[in-house]
Amino acid sequence: MSQTRFDVLFESVKIGPVTAPNRFYQVPHCNALGHLRPRAEAENRRVKAQGGWGVICTQEVEIHPSSEISPFAEGRLWDDADIPAMELTTSAIHEYGSLAAIELVYNGHHAPNRYSRIAPMSVSAMPVDSYDPVQARAMNKADISNMRRWYVDAAKRARTAGFDIVYVYAGHDMSLLQHFLSPRYNQRTDNYGGSLVNRLRLLQETLTDVKNAVGDSCGIALRFAVDELIGREGLQAEGEAHEMVSILSEIPDLWDVNISDWSNDSSTARFEPQEGYQEKFTAFVKTITSKPVVGVGRFTSPDAMLSQVNRGILDFIGAARPSIADPYLPNKIREGRFEDIRECIGCNICVASDNVIAPIRCTQNPVAGEEWKRNWHPETIAPAVEAVDTLVVGAGPAGLECALQLARRGHNVSLADTATTLGGRALRESTLPGLASYCRVADYRISQLQRMPNVQLLPDNQLQANDIVEAGIEHVFIATGSSWRRDAIGRQHRLALPLESAKVLTPDDILDGASAGGNVLVYDDDHYYMGGVIAEHLQASGCTVTLVTPAARISEWTEHTLEIDKIQARIYEAGIQVFTNTELVSANSQSVTLQHIHSGVQQQLSVESLCLVTSRVAHDKLYQSLLASDLKTLNCIGDCEAPGTVAAAVYAGHLAARRFQNEEAEDQLLFRRELAS
Ligand code: ADP
Ligand code: SF4
Repeated sequence: MSQTRFDVLFESVKIGPVTAPNRFYQVPHCNALGHLRPRAEAENRRVKAQGGWGVICTQEVEIHPSSEISPFAEGRLWDDADIPAMELTTSAIHEYGSLAAIELVYNGHHAPNRYSRIAPMSVSAMPVDSYDPVQARAMNKADISNMRRWYVDAAKRARTAGFDIVYVYAGHDMSLLQHFLSPRYNQRTDNYGGSLVNRLRLLQETLTDVKNAVGDSCGIALRFAVDELIGREGLQAEGEAHEMVSILSEIPDLWDVNISDWSNDSSTARFEPQEGYQEKFTAFVKTITSKPVVGVGRFTSPDAMLSQVNRGILDFIGAARPSIADPYLPNKIREGRFEDIRECIGCNICVASDNVIAPIRCTQNPVAGEEWKRNWHPETIAPAVEAVDTLVVGAGPAGLECALQLARRGHNVSLADTATTLGGRALRESTLPGLASYCRVADYRISQLQRMPNVQLLPDNQLQANDIVEAGIEHVFIATGSSWRRDAIGRQHRLALPLESAKVLTPDDILDGASAGGNVLVYDDDHYYMGGVIAEHLQASGCTVTLVTPAARISEWTEHTLEIDKIQARIYEAGIQVFTNTELVSANSQSVTLQHIHSGVQQQLSVESLCLVTSRVAHDKLYQSLLASDLKTLNCIGDCEAPGTVAAAVYAGHLAARRFQNEEAEDQLLFRRELAS
């Protein structure tokens, strides 16, 4: 292969006794497959090895039942019985010459032990992180030496299972070894508490134990949070964390550094739009240690990666989300196929799936989590049984993905949309605060489609049923989307509200440029991002906004995307008045009536307009009117079937294209399940 300026990214790098074939490093990430779905886990990691990642890590793997986070589906290596499931993953990774790494964890007070029912243990006695009515007890000397032994036993099992790199984990505010470091958790008066050296003792001992046990054949990685972003109360890159890195400097074979907690490490694009956003915290580590360093920062652009290595910030380009969105990212860079990179949009739908204990999904990569379940591959799709003419109506996320996959299968595809610019909601919503990256969903697909000779893009084409019948194309996919309701029907109100003469707007009106006037009430009964984003947008454009929601917090579902706290802060900082636990009762041209959902207390507010973010109506009229036609194939996909996330629309488009002419094998209800044995 000819030389390119990106060759440096493909240099091999030694990690203790093992050698990574290149600098692309999939850092540990959850996928809710784990111990519950080991075959799916193995296939999810396999495609990354195929796609060129030099190192591929598991998610966190519990080492002992006294620290387990059931019902979450992380990894498990409690005893030897767990080894065979782990071997599925290591052999899948090794088949392509990549290194397999395992992140061993002891959770401490992060684990309520709902399954094992063992009283949790932590550095000091305190309640567990979740709201479970459970407290952890303080570890005594015997507990500490047990924990060290469990770490070593798990490391040995990991080596038996074939792992090349074993992690000691002190990150994300989710691991005991980090809890020991922290003065706000560590109230011990023995030689594990008090001074920095004492607080560091357990991490240093565990690291040394694991190195002595398996360090002859495995690289030992330390995952270390250099800053907790809570000022002097927590670890700081410019404070104690700096000193800790200096003390441990040469003990691990690899430093995997990031910021804590998880919501900071996996910040969404809404709150950290810049690639490489962790550099300002982590850059010091390489100036201290001679060992290789991996760090993350939602890297998707080859130039940003190159710059990290050339400037001596990182030795490995760490990626969790970019590797989920595009498991073939390294190969695409190697082959100079930059325009084929499917860039992560930083939405954290992948994180949300783990948090709701559902197998991983991704907005950009509809195959994520489906590799084993449906035997799908992110880069290949079965060629058409017989190439035919197809029509896709609507070029939002669902229509674009459907068109792209139909075209990849070899069908002739016409893709029509009313709008003059293709992209649907991915494009429209990308103009709202913090959502710019959503246009990547459209950009990636449009740029692929534009280069395909069997595709005809037809913007500015509003199609009616008779247009479609007259066009004579017999295979039609309707992806005409949805729009926000005007009657306040949502979760709180299943029937329309009396809104009489009120000036009612929806997010669609705002996106179309409607003016909300001075004093506007945003009513959010949707609970994902839109209510908060629209409120932010209106306030920034000069309105005085009041945000009302029946939920206890604004954008309640964003707890799962790790955004909820940042959203509350942003809304309050913007000066938006907030009413939580409050429902809308009625509205007229001057005022609204609100009611507290628990006390029943009512109050009137005078507002000039209302923006309702409650639920959406599917645009399925075109589909319904075609049902009586004699088209050979008629599919309704995405929001026009059932409004949902962008990720769900992309998935629906993908599934429809895979099922086409292949219905039996790809039937929605027929996928492989993992059965416990
Ligand atoms: P989804 O999320 O399901 O992809 P979107 O709302 O993003 O849905 O996209 C739907 C697209 O369908 C929009 O771009 C809209 O302009 C287009 N559309 C709706 N009705 C028609 C129609 N009758 N003819 C052509 N395009 C249409
Ligand atoms: Fe990126 Fe969103 Fe996919 Fe996660 S779900 S990998 S954040 S695009």
